Amino acid sequence: VFAMQSEPLAQYKEKYESYKNSGMKLDMSRGKPASDQLDLSGYLLGILEDDKDCVLENGIDCRNYGLPAGIPQIRKLFGEILGVSPKNVIAGGNSSLNMMFDTVSHAYTKGVAGCTPWGKLEKVKFLCPVPGYDRHFGVTAYFGIDMINIPMNSDGPDMDIVEKYVENDESVKGIWCVPKYSNPSGITYSDETVRRFAALKPKAKDFRIFWDNSYALHDITDTPDTLLNLYEEALKNKNEDIVFMFTSTSKITFPGGGVACFAASDANIAWALESIAYQTIGPDKLNQLRHAKAFPDFASVRAQMEKHRAIIAPKFKAVIDCFEKNLSGIPGVSWTKPNGGYFISLELPEGCASRVVKMASEAGLVLTPAGATFPYGKDPRDTNIRIAPTYPSVDELEKALDLLVCCIKLSV
Ligand code: PMP
Repeated sequence: VFAMQSEPLAQYKEKYESYKNSGMKLDMSRGKPASDQLDLSGYLLGILEDDKDCVLENGIDCRNYGLPAGIPQIRKLFGEILGVSPKNVIAGGNSSLNMMFDTVSHAYTKGVAGCTPWGKLEKVKFLCPVPGYDRHFGVTAYFGIDMINIPMNSDGPDMDIVEKYVENDESVKGIWCVPKYSNPSGITYSDETVRRFAALKPKAKDFRIFWDNSYALHDITDTPDTLLNLYEEALKNKNEDIVFMFTSTSKITFPGGGVACFAASDANIAWALESIAYQTIGPDKLNQLRHAKAFPDFASVRAQMEKHRAIIAPKFKAVIDCFEKNLSGIPGVSWTKPNGGYFISLELPEGCASRVVKMASEAGLVLTPAGATFPYGKDPRDTNIRIAPTYPSVDELEKALDLLVCCIKLSV
C-alpha cells in the first residue's frame, strides 16, 4: 500500500515545487464577478442620454435631493425580486452589506421597536449558521456582539437549536441568514426551515432575522433551487416584524456601482427611515434610474442572469470535475455541488484546512483564509475552505485547481 501511495506523492511534491518556483499569482479568495461579467452591464454607463431622462413621470428630478427610500421603479423591481410590495422596500446605495451594517448600528445606538439600544445592554448575542459569510461575522464582531455557531444541515440551519436559543434567551437579538445558495455552502433553506423561521416566537421583542438574499436569482444549473418567501410566511403568522431582508444588484450589474435594498414590514421601514433621514438627503437616484431603465421588468433581470450563468457555470463545472477526478474517495474530503451562488464549500480532514491554504499561498495561490467562514475566524475543527471560482478565467482556474489538488494530496 505504501509503495503504491509514495510514487504519486513524490509526483505531487515535485509539481508543487515547480509551481512554487514559477512565480504564479492567482487569487481565488473573494466571490467577485470576472471582468467579462462586468462587461455585460457596460451599456448601463451611458443609458441616461439627456437631462430629460433624469426626470421621473411624477416630475421628480433624480439629479436633485430627495426620495430617501429610493425611486419608485427600483423599489418595485426589488419588491418583485424579494416578493414584497414596493412600499416595503428601501433602495439605497451600492452595497447591501452597508445597509446591514447601518441596520445593526441603528439597533445598537437607538434600539429596535422601542427597546433598549443593544449598545446599552450587558450582553447581545447573534446566532451564526456555520460555515457562513465572513463579512456578516465582521459586522457583529465590530459591535462587540457575541456570536454563537449554529450547525448548518443540508436544508438550512439546525432549527431545533435556533428555536431553543431564540425562544428562551432574551439576549439573542439576531441571526445571520443567507437563505438561497448560501455563502459558502451553496445550500438553499427548505420550505420547512423557512416556515419554522416565520413561526419563531422570540423571547426578545427586538429579535430580528437578518435575511440576506444576495443570491436570489443566481442560478447556474437547469435544476435551480426555490426559496419559500419568508415575508409572506411571517405575515400569515402576524410575525412580519421579525424579518429584515437585504439584497443588491452587485452580482447582477456591478459590485462597485449597483443598487442595494432593505425590505421589511411597514413598522420596520418606518424605523429604518428614522435613521436614514439623518444619514442622507437621498440616495444616488441617477444610478437607481440607470438600473430601472436597463431592467424595465423582472424578465429583463432574468435574461441578464442567464448571461452571467453562461460565464459562471463552466467555472463551477471545472471545480466539481477536478474534485471528482482527483479527490473522490479520500476519507474526510467532500465538497458541495450547488445549483447557484458564488461558492463551493470544501471539507477536508480535521486540522488540514489552514495547512492547505498556507501551502497554496506559498506557491502563489491566494484562497479565502482558513477559518474565515466562522465567527472570530476560528474554524473549531480546521476543516473548511471556501472555493470562489468566478474571478479567474477558466484557464487560470484550471491551473489553480491543479495546484490546490497538489496541496491537498500532500496535506491529508
Ligand atoms: N451578502 C453575501 C452573502 C455576499 O456573499 C456578499 C458578497 N460577497 C454580500 C452580501 C455583499 O453584498 P453587497 O455587494 O450588496 O454589499
